[in-house]
Amino acid sequence: MTVGVLGAGQLGRMLALAGYPLGLDFLFLDGEPGTPANQVAPSLFGKFTDSALLDELAQRCEVVTFDWENVPAESLARLSSRTRIAPPQSALATAQDRLLEKELFARLKVPTNPNHAVDSLPDLQRAAAQIGLPGVLKTRRLGYDGKGQRVIRSIADVESAWKELGGVPLLYEAFVPFDYEISAIGVRGRKGEFAMYPLNRNLHRDGILRLTRAPWKSATLERAARRTLQRVMEHFDYVGVLAIEFFVRRGRLIANEMAPRVHNSGHWTIEGAVTSQFENHLRAICGLPLGDTAARGHSAMLNLIGQMPDKERLLREKGLFLHDYGKSARPGRKLGHITIVESTAKAADLRARRLLRQI
Ligand code: AMP
Repeated sequence: MTVGVLGAGQLGRMLALAGYPLGLDFLFLDGEPGTPANQVAPSLFGKFTDSALLDELAQRCEVVTFDWENVPAESLARLSSRTRIAPPQSALATAQDRLLEKELFARLKVPTNPNHAVDSLPDLQRAAAQIGLPGVLKTRRLGYDGKGQRVIRSIADVESAWKELGGVPLLYEAFVPFDYEISAIGVRGRKGEFAMYPLNRNLHRDGILRLTRAPWKSATLERAARRTLQRVMEHFDYVGVLAIEFFVRRGRLIANEMAPRVHNSGHWTIEGAVTSQFENHLRAICGLPLGDTAARGHSAMLNLIGQMPDKERLLREKGLFLHDYGKSARPGRKLGHITIVESTAKAADLRARRLLRQI
């Protein structure tokens, strides 16, 4: 079976690497050669809106998925009349727009922070007055890794934030003074079978994920996260892996956003779970039985951002798993990640903290 993938970044690369042992073949579509996924799998090169390329992808692949959230809706629409798409287009369309995402959470009674659409400076002034300060102004579309967002702390910040981000549809939301952040990753098969990974506790810096520790054990949070994942997945008749990021405040979950794909906070599952999120995504979209999502030990995953640390030094560490995505260095760019798996949460924690200082 050949799996088509729109976008050929590191998520696609790890999908292909997980799919080869299952006997799957891959065909990616992205702008140019040399991408992380193209280094390990064949690709078509060109625009996501090129109908001839989309038709070729549909013709050569039994199922098409995506590793990039900003795939144009019209590309998926064209593909869906010619082949099977998973996860569903409707889930991607919702995740592409922060307002639709917040509206979905409200409709499904998933607690989220107060928010308001903003299309003009007076809108923003009204939203800030209604919701209060501090708040976060975000572009509704195309934001990632903290890009396209601005914290507004005082009235004086309102105009400058508008100047910086205005001109495109925006969302103003309440700043959440969270105790910590977690994410929940679930997988749903074609017949509605469902499995969830243990919770991930995530540390972001400047809007970018730095460190994930898993399993994050909390029976109450896990129950709440499971309900949310299932509700969202059933709503879309979802197939594949879905991640939802939450703030935790006073022991309660506040949904931040969802990602209809494999997720950075699930990279630890490659070595730290019985079946990785990448393999389970493929199993789900190919109609195969889902794999066990249980953790094997206690994992910590650290992103390698901006520049690659000394690889030899890292590889000298016992039981350290290095993933180099084959990208060139650039400030703020995710170039790879490392995972460690320990037998206790405390040991994983201590080692993660040391490695965080080191890289
Ligand atoms: P996002 O792109 O919305 O996931 O934002 C990236 C990171 O910025 C989050 O993981 C948080 O650490 C921080 N952040 C975003 N929105 C808020 C908010 N409303 N309140 C507090 N922190 C936020």
